[in-house]
Amino acid sequence: MSDHSELGHIRPWRHIERRKSRQIMVGSVPVGGDAPISVQSMTNTPTTDAAATLEQIRQLEEAGADIVRVSCPDEESTAAFRTIAREARVPLVADIHFHYKRGIEAAQAGAACLRINPGNIGSIERVKEVVQAARDHGCSMRIGVNAGSLEKELLEKYGEPCPDAMVESALNHARILQDLDFHEFKISVKASDPFLTVAAYQQLADAIDCPLHLGVTEAGPLRTGTIKSAIGMGNMLWSGIGDTIRVSLAADPVEEIKVGFDILKSLGLRHRGVNIIACPSCARQGFNVIETVGILEERLAHVSTAMSLSIIGCVVNGPGEALYTDIGFTGGGKGAGMVYLNGKIAHKQANEGMIDEIVAQVEAKAAELDAARAAAIALNAAE
Ligand code: SF4
Repeated sequence: MSDHSELGHIRPWRHIERRKSRQIMVGSVPVGGDAPISVQSMTNTPTTDAAATLEQIRQLEEAGADIVRVSCPDEESTAAFRTIAREARVPLVADIHFHYKRGIEAAQAGAACLRINPGNIGSIERVKEVVQAARDHGCSMRIGVNAGSLEKELLEKYGEPCPDAMVESALNHARILQDLDFHEFKISVKASDPFLTVAAYQQLADAIDCPLHLGVTEAGPLRTGTIKSAIGMGNMLWSGIGDTIRVSLAADPVEEIKVGFDILKSLGLRHRGVNIIACPSCARQGFNVIETVGILEERLAHVSTAMSLSIIGCVVNGPGEALYTDIGFTGGGKGAGMVYLNGKIAHKQANEGMIDEIVAQVEAKAAELDAARAAAIALNAAE
């Protein structure tokens, strides 16, 4: 019940067939193949301020980030990167733009992956040096093509940023690495327009077997950027494309992680935390649904165990939703409602005190699920 993807075999309309990609490692996190789709974000503190950057990485780790990207625009930044990489619990991607030396320094300083376009860093000798540093330090790479910074020749050839131009750019960069027998890379082809983004990724997905890093770049502020990302990335993920994702919002990076997980949760591709199902409420509601859900969302933010909770205003839809959630509450009028546990009626509960009761039930269920999972892992290890 906690994992709706488990229902895939009996409900084929839920099933997403993922594109078969090669697997690479970003530090300890596998990307591609059958690895879970990882969620990443990027720090926006000055990298030279290692303490502030680490504080933001901690917040992202708390929110569930699998991977965090950190910009390395200059030598001072790669120097601070060493301290940051030593302290961070998640693998770090060093964002390098043009200067090959920053790439080498970042690899030496503990980067798990370099975001670098080999075609942009000059002579093949320089590329070889970066590739050698990546090999020596177990770094993978991400080729990041962006519609806003396509090579001049491709813009001249195609007239404007278009899927063909973006894919040609990506494959040109990839070829440089392949010719050096370096295959530990993933690719992104981002644009701020979801149509262009999706078309470019679809074309790229057919052209190469490396893992794909998805993103609709510069998607905008929290609400509109979330919608744009959900439409663009949702479309690709639904068709099986995508191995790691980054939502780009002009907002706190922690929001990017939350939105990333929400997109994956909506598609049953990844589960983390409490998935709250709630009705929009209407005159029939037996309690204030919107206020209750707002409070619960905050009070349950610390729960990372995947589980589901339905909070429904009345019996029109409450009992039906509760059948398929781990915990449910349905308003019933007269100042009380019904608590459901594991899809079955458990007990009546006064509206007063209902939030504390639900939080307690969710925490107990999370502990039970965690214990069951730990037991299963121990059993597997013993066999
Ligand atoms: S479940 Fe009940 S309260 Fe909620 S929107 Fe539907 S009819 Fe209204």
